[in-house]
Amino acid sequence: MRVLGIEGTAWAASAAVFETDDPTRVGDADHVFIESDAYQPESGGIHPREAAEHMGEAIPEVVETAIEHARERASESGDGGGDGQSPIDADGETPSSQSPSPIDAVAFSRGPGLGPCLRIVGTAARAVAQRFDVPLVGVNHMVAHLEVGRHQSGFSSPVCLNASGANAHLLGYRNGRYRVLGETMDTGVGNAIDKFTRHVGWQHPGGPKVEARAREGEFHPLPYVVKGMDFSFSGIMSAAKQAYDDDVPVENVCRGLEETVFAMLTEVSERALSLTGADELVLGGGVGQNDRLKRMLGEMCDQRGADFYAPEDRFLRDNAGMIAMLGAKMYAAGDTLEIAESGIDSNFRPDEVAVSWRGATES
Ligand code: ATP
Repeated sequence: MRVLGIEGTAWAASAAVFETDDPTRVGDADHVFIESDAYQPESGGIHPREAAEHMGEAIPEVVETAIEHARERASESGDGGGDGQSPIDADGETPSSQSPSPIDAVAFSRGPGLGPCLRIVGTAARAVAQRFDVPLVGVNHMVAHLEVGRHQSGFSSPVCLNASGANAHLLGYRNGRYRVLGETMDTGVGNAIDKFTRHVGWQHPGGPKVEARAREGEFHPLPYVVKGMDFSFSGIMSAAKQAYDDDVPVENVCRGLEETVFAMLTEVSERALSLTGADELVLGGGVGQNDRLKRMLGEMCDQRGADFYAPEDRFLRDNAGMIAMLGAKMYAAGDTLEIAESGIDSNFRPDEVAVSWRGATES
């Protein structure tokens, strides 16, 4: 099976090809190809209109590159190679279907994300699905962040910490759905860090810069806000900005930010493991690329005898590989969409997804 994935919820215009003999588990025949083009704001944070303009230009190119790759794989394995035409022609029209197709299905991020970006991704996915006459699969971006770690780790029923730009939540599986066990009460964790770095005058994205400077700093205390299973970042960010304005060395504020924010996420992850009785934790999302966060989560899991898995960085930040992987599972489960029902959903919560691809006997 060969599935094309298309991602474009915010900053990453990305297309991928996932090829597998069995989408339910990691196998020797698995192959992932990812082509991404990142939107880089000249100043400030992500501007939705500029991000959408970037998607409009970059999505056709990354999709075409991925399809070309799928075609090469198909012709090497002798199972098809398409007709050599561009998936979306210069007028935005979809040429008539030809066979055999180099892909079996097209999966796309349906949400959550920036509406103008998602609409471009949805349009591209529909065009490619019609062009090759293959099914369309609508993937929840946050569930994809979770499932890539679950897939690669081989864990059966982990708790997942999604620590990304626009989100921060703990997910656990129960009776056919991923339940939100705890979440941010205000902004996403990466967005909070990026707001602080914008205040300091650093270019987006701020997370890697905070990580680099924190290594040189000493801990500066900041408010720690965990309420039950939920947490809040806005007060910490205001305090971090104030500390910077009060001439606390920026590397000390960065260190304080990392230690405080990641301790909060680690505490709630531990509580989620304890409440659910799970002994496996997977990490998802772009902030998961941070080594300090990975270390804190790994140490917490070691101390309680739980297993911890963090995918490699290219699968943590936004990428179409995770969309293609979950798309393959959904396609194999028959979880496909009619074109007429394939609208995007910019507020698509992970607990709205009826999980079709896990065994009916799993609880
Ligand atoms: P979402 O997946 O919720 O839509 P997103 O679209 O912003 O989020 P991601 O790629 O998941 O995309 O995460 C991007 C965020 O990750 C940015 O806020 C960025 O600052 C942060 N980030 C990247 N690298 C690091 C790092 N090393 N340490 C901390 N944060 C990081």
